[in-house]
Amino acid sequence: QEDIFKNVVSHAKEYGFIFPSSEIYDGLSAVYDYAQNGVELKKNIREYWWKSMVQMNDNIVGLDASILMHPTTWKASGHVDAFNDPLIDNKDSKRRYRADVLIEDYAEKLNIKAIKEVEKAKVRFGDAFNEAEFVSTNPRVVEYKAREREILERLGRSLGNEDLEDVKALIEELEIACPETGSRNWTEVRQFNLMFGTKLGASADTAMDLYLRPETAQGIFVNFLNVQKSGRMKVPFGIAQTGKAFRNEIVARQFIFRMREFEQMEMQFFVRPGDEMKHYEFWKETRLKWHLSLGLGKENYRFHDHEKLAHYANAAADIEFNFPFGFKELEGIHSRTDFDLKAHEQFSGRKLQYFDAELNKNYVPYVVETSVGLDRMFLAVFATSLKEETLEDGSTRTVLKLPSVLAPTKAAVLPLVKKDGLPEIAHKIIDELKWDFQVTYDEKDAVGRRYRRQDALGTPFCITVDHQTAEDQTVTIRHRDTMKQDRVAIADLKSIIENEVSM
Ligand code: ATP
Repeated sequence: QEDIFKNVVSHAKEYGFIFPSSEIYDGLSAVYDYAQNGVELKKNIREYWWKSMVQMNDNIVGLDASILMHPTTWKASGHVDAFNDPLIDNKDSKRRYRADVLIEDYAEKLNIKAIKEVEKAKVRFGDAFNEAEFVSTNPRVVEYKAREREILERLGRSLGNEDLEDVKALIEELEIACPETGSRNWTEVRQFNLMFGTKLGASADTAMDLYLRPETAQGIFVNFLNVQKSGRMKVPFGIAQTGKAFRNEIVARQFIFRMREFEQMEMQFFVRPGDEMKHYEFWKETRLKWHLSLGLGKENYRFHDHEKLAHYANAAADIEFNFPFGFKELEGIHSRTDFDLKAHEQFSGRKLQYFDAELNKNYVPYVVETSVGLDRMFLAVFATSLKEETLEDGSTRTVLKLPSVLAPTKAAVLPLVKKDGLPEIAHKIIDELKWDFQVTYDEKDAVGRRYRRQDALGTPFCITVDHQTAEDQTVTIRHRDTMKQDRVAIADLKSIIENEVSM
């Protein structure tokens, strides 16, 4: 698994998807830049989300609020007082960890052990194998599962009670149970606020302390009434937003999984108090369906319902994805009650109420939120699509089997040779396609090598211009996944590509 992950990181760099930030200065920890192909893939994921949320729902509208907000926002939201992570240092290795992530990693190790037992049994028993029965009766699997649950529950309890000593005790116990994981020389656990501070204004004494937003959601809450009134929105309705958020994370080298500057895609759905559970269930299912529509495999997703809830929530679940380092949170769906709007009412002294004409009554709406990390989506899509294939003739190819709608480049146009007028025809084809699709031209190297390069970039189609093209206006079109080639008319290219890649 570690090798797969390394491969993902190096492929992302070699093929122009993701570079470390300011690399000539040796980079900046947990900050990354999206390169020429990465920026297209990221944009396509964002658009796919935006279309499904805003364009497909006539009761959801968009917003682009500022990154900088009035500092009282973060008092009201609870971030100044409570947006902390428990931090612990290992005195021997001098490494710093997020205590809860460390514990979750142990729990995940037990889960992996349980899965391995099941896989072994599958092979041993073949067709007769009944997975559900095995999982519930095999003593080893039962033990791993129970221990995993126990660890997570205890972690949740300790964090809920802010019992940091117990968090440390739990880490030490786990290390005794798994001696291979190293030393036990830990500092105390302490709370660390994740917000980045900055200043507004020039002179030191009048400057105002600000924060870079740690989530996009608050920009939606403070604009709730403006949008509702100017858009004449009726509850239930939603406001969707994508944009940067900043957290001074304690980082565990997970590439773009956990960054200090990242992008969120959030939607806040405003509902009648009392109706929130119905909407919560709806959005849980709807969001999972959205993920499944990308075709990365049903087995790669699972829900994790939160037992321990944040102070603002009355129900919460994560959609977890099977990343190269195990199942981790990809998206959160939270029923946030009226916590945020009420807090903003209190701190601003303004009413944030909605008049419900049907009920003939004013109220502060409840909120159901869906929040997904764009960069985590990128990692999920990219890592799962990257495949090493052995072909019939025994050779191998690296292919990035991205969902076609998300592929950075939809087609590459390749003249078979650099002469006989073929490059000119290729450029003409590009001119005809480029308003509708991101297309590219390549004439370097033998055509077989150019195909391989486009495979590695995830380009769904290669269009080859050969000598016959000049005679009959046809080209070959090669499909990335099947490597099958068809001879088609230039005039049909647009509809063939559109069929496959349109959202
Ligand atoms: P985690 O437990 O992994 O720190 P979280 O529960 O703090 O995440 P939320 O505050 O619910 O995350 O944020 C919503 C989404 O934003 C997450 O599901 C994740 O996809 C994304 N996200 C959060 N923090 C980061 C980060 N540091 N880097 C990249 N994406 C992030």
